[in-house]
Amino acid sequence: MGEYTSCHWIQHGLNFENDHIEMCCLCCHKGGGRLYIKENYHGKNVNWNEIFKLKQKFIDENKQGIVDKRCEGCFNLYNKSWDDDEQFINYIHFNHWTNCNSDCIYCYTSWDKENYQKKPHYNVMPIIKELFKKKQFRPGGEITFAGGEPTILKEFEELVNFLLKHGADRITVHSSGIKYSKAIENGIKSKKLSVCLSADAGTREMFKRIKRVDKFDKFWENTKKYAKAQADDSIYNVETKFILIPEVNTTKDEIDKWLDLNIQSGVKSIVIDIENDFCRDLRAKNLEKPKYLVDLCAYIIQKAKELNLNLVDYNNFRYLVSEYELM
Ligand code: SF4
Ligand code: SF4
Repeated sequence: MGEYTSCHWIQHGLNFENDHIEMCCLCCHKGGGRLYIKENYHGKNVNWNEIFKLKQKFIDENKQGIVDKRCEGCFNLYNKSWDDDEQFINYIHFNHWTNCNSDCIYCYTSWDKENYQKKPHYNVMPIIKELFKKKQFRPGGEITFAGGEPTILKEFEELVNFLLKHGADRITVHSSGIKYSKAIENGIKSKKLSVCLSADAGTREMFKRIKRVDKFDKFWENTKKYAKAQADDSIYNVETKFILIPEVNTTKDEIDKWLDLNIQSGVKSIVIDIENDFCRDLRAKNLEKPKYLVDLCAYIIQKAKELNLNLVDYNNFRYLVSEYELM
């Protein structure tokens, strides 16, 4: 143990990307991230000793006060006592595929959907099993699925059930909600898994306009089933997410219908965000935050309180409301 500036991804994390493995998935800060662990990686066996050796190199540099330039400005850097007596992994981000059963208009994959749908991905099961066999996974961190749509991965059910069975105690899955997963249900029941389902609409018409698939009823049918699997009211492990897309789904009526559907489905927690490109332009051009949008954010916060819904504010939403003390 020792006090120095580092982050939990350098100490104990791995992020699997489409053609490489890196330390984390963060890239929007000044340093830009991209601390590669293995470039040109397409699912072959990995040498775990080599990976831990590379991590140790970064840790040793951090101990000497030499924080990598690529980490500059990252909000994950902390000066504290790090648990570095043993080498283990407890943060894993799975982000190595781009296929999806939805086609959201704001998604980066929509720029070249055909190509992203065909992009090959690799299986992680063999190396994850090896990590657990070596007893170098430790609970206490977080395992996250992003992607692409996780539930359509061939090894998804096996992988999630394996992780649950072997001690992973905090798994987060981001899903389109279109395909039901028994493994997600198992995780919800055991209180070790949370699912964040991408709704973005309160009506079928809007869902179809944003997702470009006609799966509104399926989405809420699955949401209801997941919510029913929740073991305890005090644990928010089923959430639906609404990304505000200015001039598209930003009406009180759309919000009200989405909130009603959450209540009817037994969902206790909602996630709210604002389209990334819109907020990036606001920031870059230092534009005034549109009043109608700030008012809508205030309305959502108020309604969530009235309905006793837990509200999780993602970064862009937080950015928009930050100067108005609405929360
Ligand atoms: S400090 Fe930030 S960019 Fe650097 S490894 Fe950690 S999470 Fe990634
Ligand atoms: S559900 Fe997620 S991955 Fe799929 S198209 Fe929408 S934003 Fe992209």
